[in-house]
Amino acid sequence: MMLRRLAHSWLLRPALLAGLWGAATAALADGSGADAELGRLRAAAAQQQPALVATLKQLVEIESGSADREGLERIATLASERLKALGGRVRWIEPSDDLYRMGDTPERVGPMVEARFAGRGQAKILLLAHLDTVYPRGMLAEQPFRIEGDKAYGLGIADDKQGVALVLHLLEMLRGQPEWGELTVLFNSDEEISSPASRAHITRLGAEHDVVLSFEGGGGPAGPDSLRLATSGIAAAYLRVKGRAAHAGAAPERGVNAIYELSHQLLQARDLSDRRVGRQVHWTLARGGIVRNMIPPAAEASADIRVDRVADFDGIERTLRERIQNKLLPESEVTLDFERRRPPLQASEASRRLAREAVPLALASGLQPVVRDQPSGGGTDAAFAALQTRAPVIEGMGLRGAGAHTRDAEYVMLDSIVPRLLFGARLILAISRGELRGQAAP
Ligand SMILES: [Zn+2]
Repeated sequence: MMLRRLAHSWLLRPALLAGLWGAATAALADGSGADAELGRLRAAAAQQQPALVATLKQLVEIESGSADREGLERIATLASERLKALGGRVRWIEPSDDLYRMGDTPERVGPMVEARFAGRGQAKILLLAHLDTVYPRGMLAEQPFRIEGDKAYGLGIADDKQGVALVLHLLEMLRGQPEWGELTVLFNSDEEISSPASRAHITRLGAEHDVVLSFEGGGGPAGPDSLRLATSGIAAAYLRVKGRAAHAGAAPERGVNAIYELSHQLLQARDLSDRRVGRQVHWTLARGGIVRNMIPPAAEASADIRVDRVADFDGIERTLRERIQNKLLPESEVTLDFERRRPPLQASEASRRLAREAVPLALASGLQPVVRDQPSGGGTDAAFAALQTRAPVIEGMGLRGAGAHTRDAEYVMLDSIVPRLLFGARLILAISRGELRGQAAP
């Protein structure tokens, strides 16, 4: 959220807000039934707030770093029990053969928790959130759960324990009102390490559902409340050069200097960014050599890569593979590993339509919605859900907050709980009733 491109988002001006508010209330006024339902749901959301805060505390107090299999099993157990108690058919999905292993993929990735809730309607709706955090075991002591004023602090509370809590309490609110056809919840344990084990399953689920709602954070502490239709694609490139060691003083000519070759390779691959299309390739880490008086036998570097378009991954990889053929030192060996960490989420017509139609609901729920249809540098699992579907995908259904991936200041805003619960519940009901056309896009 650091690189917000406000120019591309529909930041609602007061006049427009007033107009939409009028439209929303007029739409609701045409039936006292709708009014009554809004009142009932608002009361239900307010009633859920203290219970949701208690759930947040429970979730925060289980450390669940992406590599902490034991912690992930504990939090997955808690989530499973809650989902079962809500009436879901729950199963754990363990990492399988389709795991996409990357350099930082732990030996044992945590399980996914999937819950299916059958309903009496038609629409198939997928809700996503993740159980893992970026924090290794032991950091909970630095960020214990606590409430200060209008903020709830805690380890991983914004990213993404609030998302898990919101989904659980949305289901509680909608108990007895299963108007959807099938509602599927997926909580994965590997989002923060680019979803090596869950990516393929999330893509399959995305293709099976009519609408995907993902519960990462919903904006900064002061608002507005974002609905995100686009996120960045992230890849990494690793260049490894093998040379030959030799005495730097006595026989340097017998060596092959891996640092010289790496430098040549980096310089000839420094022109791959194009900000106009959101493509960024930056070499950000390099190391080489062993000791001062040895011609370095090895060197390596890695690049951080961001794209707005899925196809750009292929183009960048192809170009890098071509370029490394051109060597400074013919005796060196140069290899490239290219990790597709996460595809971009691209704003589709269906997503834009659903978001447009959801804005009045958001306003009437007490949110100040802003639809962001350009990526802001971060990536999420919503992108995997969108890879093979025409269904609309909305990210950022979660609470407002700040401090994700920091050491001491991660929090969520308590005043966003009721509006986000209300909006989530009303959106799910409206989709279930076919009142929004977004999900019916050709
Ligand atoms: Zn997250």
